[in-house]
Amino acid sequence: MPFISGGSKNKSRIKRFVYFIKKPSILRTFCVFIIIAVIFSSLISGFIMYLYTTKYMTDTKSEDIKKAVDDINILYSRMYTSYINNLDESGDWVSDEGYRDYRSEYLELLNRLELYHDLLNITGFVTESDGSIFLSYPLLPNMTGLAESSGREFMSADVTDKLLYNNGDYFFKESAQYYTGSAYDYVIDSGDFHGLYSSYTDSYLSITQSIAYVYPGMTEAINKGTITLSIPMPEITKARSSIINYYVFSTFVAVILEIIALIIITKEITNPIRQLQSMTEQVSMGNFKAKIESNSKDELGQLINSYNSMAEALENLDVLRNDFIASVSHELRTPMTSIRGFIDGILDGVIPPERQEHYLQIIKEEINRMNILVNDLLNMARLQSGKVELDMMPYKTDDLLINTACKLEPIIDEKKINLEFDLNTKNCEVLIDKLSIERVLINLIQNATKFTQSGGIITIRSAFADDDKVQITVEDTGSGISPEELPFIFEKFYKVDKSRGLDKKGTGLGLAIVKSILAAHNQSIRVESTLGKGSRFIFTLPIYRKD
Ligand code: ADP
Repeated sequence: MPFISGGSKNKSRIKRFVYFIKKPSILRTFCVFIIIAVIFSSLISGFIMYLYTTKYMTDTKSEDIKKAVDDINILYSRMYTSYINNLDESGDWVSDEGYRDYRSEYLELLNRLELYHDLLNITGFVTESDGSIFLSYPLLPNMTGLAESSGREFMSADVTDKLLYNNGDYFFKESAQYYTGSAYDYVIDSGDFHGLYSSYTDSYLSITQSIAYVYPGMTEAINKGTITLSIPMPEITKARSSIINYYVFSTFVAVILEIIALIIITKEITNPIRQLQSMTEQVSMGNFKAKIESNSKDELGQLINSYNSMAEALENLDVLRNDFIASVSHELRTPMTSIRGFIDGILDGVIPPERQEHYLQIIKEEINRMNILVNDLLNMARLQSGKVELDMMPYKTDDLLINTACKLEPIIDEKKINLEFDLNTKNCEVLIDKLSIERVLINLIQNATKFTQSGGIITIRSAFADDDKVQITVEDTGSGISPEELPFIFEKFYKVDKSRGLDKKGTGLGLAIVKSILAAHNQSIRVESTLGKGSRFIFTLPIYRKD
């Protein structure tokens, strides 16, 4: 049943079309926008074309009509001159000859109108200044006397119906049809001459000119009425309708072509957007591995690249977070396992009473270590979340370095390490949160002490780095750090000596805290180290300026 299946196919096509129209999408927005733009541009250019074509055609034709109007105007003046010359004061004809003279001028005017009609299809009106029609060709029904000779034509009822008949005279209905204002210029009308030719489909070009008559012996012209000659212009009507047809057709074709082009182009745009959308969903579900392939270098390509980088960063962050949790759990579980073992041993009596104090001492140390770890973690979390308010105060650099180092003198002395100063920032004040920066120095000096053998040297240096910074260096002659390990030592829980040979108490958080504190001061830290020779930690502090 091919017919039925074809019908259902059509139905589903219609459904899809309706869905497309209703569904908000980039393609639909583009389509609507482009269709409106195409229709508007067609309308505007069509309208302009329409006006220009009409103007061109009327301009060409109107030159001929103007000449005919002038001609009729002259004939009218001649007729009127004969009229006033051959009338006496009481309004009677002075002689039969005078009347014949006037009559011949009158008929010449009529014949000329008839000639224009026969040759050019012109309809002519000679109108008095009150709008009453003095003469016309084709003739009006009240001009029967003129029709007798040579079978003159009468005006169609389509036109006479649009005139006013009053007391044996025909009048123009609209003042615009016979009133030209004070101008003696031609008044050009293209259309139905204010309703006179509204029964016809053709457009009419009508030119009206007032009759300016100068009485003998006078200088000023008197307005005696108007002359209007109209000519049907089917070519205007034809041109207008073909312009409309042309624009409707070309708009239709343009819209179809635009839609096809848009479907192709928007696919290129919407496909990556759809991919981005599905990738976002994947990322929001925790799958950071989702990536989009894109070779394009345009804005969308850049967006996709940024998106891929973001997913990668999120993935790294996820790995870091998992590592962090694993490290914290590990750091806490190890001491807790041993604490639990020792307590079980004491409770079970496996550990004899005389050894119990020893194990309780170990338990105390482990608890202290866990305490330090938890405090370090809390401090770092606060620093990184930006919740720590720094109490920035000016402080003398040299005093800060000497006083802090002195606090650590006992452990330095205990390891028989020499502490040296090389201070070149006399009287220079730095603007810092004193407690935090003390913490930085303590961590660095403690590390230097931890990793330096007896007899080694720790040197604390200060120098001006640039206009607004001093540079502090904590240098030791200790074990040093291998180049492979160097990039990681500022990371949380990173310990070079995993077996904790040199340092049993370290949490691997010290340098991470140092970095966070300096970052909160907008300062940086770097390290230089040679394995077996020693390390140098260099950081900056902001100089305090009084102004
Ligand atoms: P910890 O609390 O374990 O010392 P840190 O973050 O302070 O952790 O240091 C990380 C690692 O960097 C240490 O485990 C150590 O291996 C290495 N390190 C830090 N300072 C020095 C130093 N002055 N000399 C040699 N190694 C150091």
